[in-house]
Amino acid sequence: MYQTIVIGLGSMGSSALYQLAKRGVKVLGLEQFGIGHAKGSHSGQTRIVRKAYFEHPDYVPLLEDAYKGWETIMKESGKQLFQKNGLVYFGEAGNEVIKGVDFAAREFNIRVDRIKNEKLKMFEISSQFQALIEPEAGFALAKETIRTYVEQADNLGAEVQTGERVMGWRVKDTYVEVHTDKMEYHTEKLILTGGAYTGQLIPGYAKQLKVARQLIFWIKTDNPELFTPEQFPCWVIAEPNHLGIFYGFPIIPEEEGGNGLLKVAHHVVGEVIHPDELNDFNPGKEKEKITTILKEYMPQALGEVAEVTACMYTYSPDEHFIIDVLPETDTRVVLASGFSGHGFKFVPVVGEILTELALDGYTNHSIDFLRLNRF
Ligand SMILES: Cc1cc2nc3c(=O)[nH]c(=O)nc-3n(C[C@H](O)[C@H](O)[C@H](O)COP(=O)(O)OP(=O)(O)OC[C@H]3O[C@@H](n4cnc5c(N)ncnc54)[C@H](O)[C@@H]3O)c2cc1C
Repeated sequence: MYQTIVIGLGSMGSSALYQLAKRGVKVLGLEQFGIGHAKGSHSGQTRIVRKAYFEHPDYVPLLEDAYKGWETIMKESGKQLFQKNGLVYFGEAGNEVIKGVDFAAREFNIRVDRIKNEKLKMFEISSQFQALIEPEAGFALAKETIRTYVEQADNLGAEVQTGERVMGWRVKDTYVEVHTDKMEYHTEKLILTGGAYTGQLIPGYAKQLKVARQLIFWIKTDNPELFTPEQFPCWVIAEPNHLGIFYGFPIIPEEEGGNGLLKVAHHVVGEVIHPDELNDFNPGKEKEKITTILKEYMPQALGEVAEVTACMYTYSPDEHFIIDVLPETDTRVVLASGFSGHGFKFVPVVGEILTELALDGYTNHSIDFLRLNRF
């Protein structure tokens, strides 16, 4: 009998496992693949971490706590998991992204500076665009973060099983029964952090959670020396002729867990798929679009598209996260899903929230806007 089982040791589950182990709980983490893999939502090396949130201002207090959590895990592990190389936002005045960043910055006193486009050497941006820079933003190393949380949890006594797939679970009178393809386990509390596979873990929610493929483009630029994290920020362009935003990162050197290539992607609803179809794609048109954007806005970054990889977003109906105790489970089962393509920066605080919901039955973090009763 475990006190808590976590199903899915990806972004959110690894952090929850660590928090539970820190509280001295007898905890088991179950992962169907390995720790840090390419069949979920955390592949592709890096994730933008930022605080001036244009999606919804209620995320900002959670981000304040997430930032503290990033500091803690980096201090405890001695690893530079989050690097603050800054984030530049470009868009026409009045664009939703620019307005939202501006609003959050003013409302929550977050440092965001207006800068002159010509100061940003690697970009060629029209004078009709505004440029804002958030100096305390940057990027996190995704796989490395997950591995670090699991390692730290393991040091604190957590049990971990990889290559073991949960086939189903059932609430019994005084415990929850979990069936995997290898074993049956019993636990007092259960945390579901299955990412794109959540619909298979809770079939009743499958219709609400839409899984979409996202492509990541890796450029072998002709000028790699210009794009190191020391001199090149993360960037977001709200391009008026396209839905969504284009974004990118500096080149992470191989010795720091990168692949020496420049990463560029388009944040927009991709093709809706079953997770098994993740790598069944043809990047043709998307590739052309990325090359056109680079040609127009970052010509010095141009080069051969060396690789295209795929990752998954799991959309909730309103594109805000779902974090709550599942109804009709006698408060035994906690769910975190529907991170809708913007969850990674919250990883440290989501682990805390899930632990509190499972062990204490409540959390002091303000998550009312993320609860299930909004649907
Ligand atoms: C291309 C791309 C770019 C992104 N960029 C950003 C960004 O810049 N900033 C940002 O904040 N966020 C970003 N995100 C979003 C962020 O990465 C996700 O919100 C986050 O990774 C979701 O975490 P998760 O724990 O829900 O899923 P995952 O990290 O995929 O974890 C789920 C885990 O559960 C396991 N699992 C599922 N079912 C079972 C089962 N039955 N048995 C055992 N194990 C199971 C899976 O194998 C997986 O390891 C991006 C996402 C993508 C795809």
